[in-house]
Amino acid sequence: SAKGMGRNNYQTYVAVPEESHQQRIALETKLRVAERNNELRVYYQPQVDSRTEDIVGMEALIRWEHPELGMISPGFFIPLAEETGLIVSIGEWVLRTACVDTKRWQTRFGLPLRVSVNLSALQLRQPNLADIVRSAVDDSGIDPTLLDLEVTESISVKSIPNLLETLQSLRDLGCRISIDDFGTGQSSLDYIRRFPADKIKIDQVFVRNIGVDPDDEAIVQATISMAHSLKLGVVAEGVEIEEHYTFLRDHGCEELQGYLFCRPLAPVSFENMLAERERLFGGAGAEFSMP
Ligand code: C2E
Ligand code: MG
Ligand code: MG
Ligand code: MG
Repeated sequence: SAKGMGRNNYQTYVAVPEESHQQRIALETKLRVAERNNELRVYYQPQVDSRTEDIVGMEALIRWEHPELGMISPGFFIPLAEETGLIVSIGEWVLRTACVDTKRWQTRFGLPLRVSVNLSALQLRQPNLADIVRSAVDDSGIDPTLLDLEVTESISVKSIPNLLETLQSLRDLGCRISIDDFGTGQSSLDYIRRFPADKIKIDQVFVRNIGVDPDDEAIVQATISMAHSLKLGVVAEGVEIEEHYTFLRDHGCEELQGYLFCRPLAPVSFENMLAERERLFGGAGAEFSMP
């Protein structure tokens, strides 16, 4: 079973206290140094087919391995990276790294693995974003149709000039667009209809309440059927327990991501996990039968 893969790879994060203005500036300096000193890491969390439990792809998630503080989660430093503009170069590095790692695994395991990379609002403001993505695709040799770019629903069309055109230019390269954290922003149905997207990611706040809150279950169900009516794919994130899994599968959500299957893994652990599945099942993605 795909569930429990990489179970020995739990990460512990340091609790970072509420920071003062001075600590904040110090942290900004440290983040610049971190980028230069290769302290940033890209971890990968599998996304599985809800019917077969095959690994169909993975999301690239950044971490900061601080020499003294240990592993720092993106929830802590991405906001700072966005405020300071550092996210532009960090984001490009994540994209390039994810494309190179993915291409290597596709080749080694002979699988059409998809990779999802998060884009921040600041990256979407870059007039040359499509050139940056094209260059990452060309340099890695990855098939652009296997590259998903995640854009969070909370970004607004008004605050980003030419957002819809930028997204369309990424799709023209062959890349797919996913709307991340779906349901947590305030977009209208008209906005969703006009948004050039291929996939919706149901936010974990709704997934968490499956089996707990019938209203959230209704929202999940309605989101899946709306997505399908609009010819969009659906991924659920934050799938933590069997009950989430069966509900989502039975309501037609095609892909699942969450701790029930696997935590985000360091590249070497991710590759070892694929190798282990290949050894067990004769194909890293495919789960034929348990030995
Ligand atoms: P996200 O893109 O919505 O990513 C999903 C988050 O949910 C990840 O947190 C993932 O580790 C976590 N997660 C996965 N499965 C479960 C589960 O079963 N239960 C729970 N409670 N959580 C689960 P992570 O890695 O801490 O990333 C947090 C956020 O930071 C991401 O949310 C994304 O918005 C941002 N982020 C991460 N990497 C990047 C990046 O390279 N660029 C940008 N711009 N943002 C990034
Ligand atoms: Mg995401
Ligand atoms: Mg998300
Ligand atoms: Mg989220």
